[in-house]
Amino acid sequence: MPEETIFSKILNGEIPCKEVYSDDLCLAFRDIEPQAPTHILLIPRKTIRSLKEAEDQDKKLLGHLLFISSKIAQQEGLDNWRTVINTGKESGQTVFHLHLHIIGGRPLLWPPG
Ligand code: AMP
Repeated sequence: MPEETIFSKILNGEIPCKEVYSDDLCLAFRDIEPQAPTHILLIPRKTIRSLKEAEDQDKKLLGHLLFISSKIAQQEGLDNWRTVINTGKESGQTVFHLHLHIIGGRPLLWPPG
């Protein structure tokens, strides 16, 4: 059995979210602790712990997530944004269900901390 996470609970409706996009492969919702005026999380419905655990059979899904993240950013009216995938504890990953951060609405510094 895949381990339960906050995001698996959001997917099965146990925890509410502010949904912004949904299809048969993924769900997007607003981050509960936004780091910018727009901060959206996009997650696959399939349980994948992190990008590190993605398998050959997930290639199409990963492409879909990237493509949809751009659609969502544009739907939010963003011209500039950052797409972030934290992989592993030391990168800042706290929820072990693969997710893309879509962050925008303010100037973003580089390199990130
Ligand atoms: P990461 O640190 O890359 O694993 O990102 C996890 C993100 O999930 C953080 O930005 C949190 O603010 C966000 N988060 C945690 N719990 C919730 C929740 N219940 N609803 C929406 N976002 C959440």
